[in-house]
Amino acid sequence: MRAIVWQGAADFALQEVPDPLPAAGQVLVQVEASAVCGSDLHLQDFGAPPPIIPGHEASGVVVELGKGVAGIEPGERVVMDPVQVCGRCWSCRNGIEHLCLNTRHLGSGSAAGTWAQRVAVDARNLYRIPEAVGFQAAALSEPAAVCCESFQRAGLREGDAVLVIGDGPFGFLHAQIAAALGAGKIICAGHHERRLERIRERTGALICNTRREDLQERVRREIPAPGVDVAVEASGSGAAPMSGLKLLRPRGTLVVFSYIWKPEALDMGLIHMKELNVLGSCRSHGAFQRCLELMASGKINTACLVDLVVPLEDFRKALARLLEDKPSTFKVALAPSS
Ligand SMILES: [Zn+2]
Ligand SMILES: [Zn+2]
Repeated sequence: MRAIVWQGAADFALQEVPDPLPAAGQVLVQVEASAVCGSDLHLQDFGAPPPIIPGHEASGVVVELGKGVAGIEPGERVVMDPVQVCGRCWSCRNGIEHLCLNTRHLGSGSAAGTWAQRVAVDARNLYRIPEAVGFQAAALSEPAAVCCESFQRAGLREGDAVLVIGDGPFGFLHAQIAAALGAGKIICAGHHERRLERIRERTGALICNTRREDLQERVRREIPAPGVDVAVEASGSGAAPMSGLKLLRPRGTLVVFSYIWKPEALDMGLIHMKELNVLGSCRSHGAFQRCLELMASGKINTACLVDLVVPLEDFRKALARLLEDKPSTFKVALAPSS
């Protein structure tokens, strides 16, 4: 089959590679759509050893079942949770399998990813795609599910005031999901005008372009004291967690969603005095089904994030669009079986 292979540094190449074989308990999926995630371009920073077939946001069709697989048939349309777990470690035994200590994460080096025509995946990681949802939209159920998890972690309640820091795809999805879950006022902050406008149009969120407006002043004006119930850091900026923290109400919650490469200090006095919660959130813990239902009912729209879809052989066009047209691009995706 054909696959995109990461060979170290910024070197990706289209190659002919052996077809994956589904092991016992696995299913072979023909990949119809696979989106590009920022983390796919950071394999080196995460210390992963090449060569790797990247990709973990995907949808496709079941083509073959490994030994012992029941309850799913060839021809079914599916999405996959990329976090394959061992079932034996401390996390797996304590109900937080998504943090498995021996995870084989699709596209990370411990398992081949989805920038390929076919991928072998643990059957328990598959979810059926509702009829109303297309392959491209469904491929984004993984990023949607991890965003949904942020609010699960934060215990979001109806009417809560939410601040989303970040106007990338994860900012967009957090704003959509907050609205779908019944949040009250939602403010999304960033500095890419066109992306912020699209977020406002789609979600009804208030937007704050931090190049033109002071975030602290704007949020305090829109959400008067005691402050924001939940702030989500989805920008990756080192300063962002602290600016979210300052706007929280007493016992409010800051969710650290992004991987922050250059972290800055948090005010421990503020955390102490306002009894604030600071939580990390990085993977889905059972949010796939809920997200697929939100997509099917039209409460969230992931297709509207996808700005460019290309066949495997044009993958360079997709990566270039991400790097060169960041101000107006949310997502690019591959269609490996077209
Ligand atoms: Zn991702
Ligand atoms: Zn485990």
